[in-house]
Amino acid sequence: MKAAVRPGSGGCLISSAAGCDAWIAERSAAELTEPFTFVVGTDNALRLAPRRSEHAPCVGGEMVLSAGEISFTREADRWTVGEVSNQSTGHCPYVTSWSAVARALDDVERGQPSGFTHEVVFRRCPDCQVHNIVREGDIVCVFCGSELPETWNVDPAV
Ligand SMILES: [Zn+2]
Repeated sequence: MKAAVRPGSGGCLISSAAGCDAWIAERSAAELTEPFTFVVGTDNALRLAPRRSEHAPCVGGEMVLSAGEISFTREADRWTVGEVSNQSTGHCPYVTSWSAVARALDDVERGQPSGFTHEVVFRRCPDCQVHNIVREGDIVCVFCGSELPETWNVDPAV
């Protein structure tokens, strides 16, 4: 049976080791050389989608606990987590959302790093409202040149 990954459908819910194996088994070799996008929903469960659907694997506009990109590497006879980042310009998760990712990864028994292997810092521009990725402390909006706030301000509730 084909996994139910359709563009915009929210990605495929992965809540067990067997489910994760089945999902990875359906990916092509080319897909597996690239990171996948993931979302951890407020139900604490992991959702995965091929990267080409980036920004689609959201939980239908709902709040998420974390999101980003994840890659798997083949180790002996199983797939383990390679790199995990919070790089999701759709959700702009805070770096401390790792605890939610760690919990979700526990359920799929993949092994995991001790934190994001690549941390991305986001700021929402107060003027043009575009989400920026802050690189090396350069906190100026790349779109309009406005100065970005010192602290994380992406969460719409803040
Ligand atoms: Zn701006």
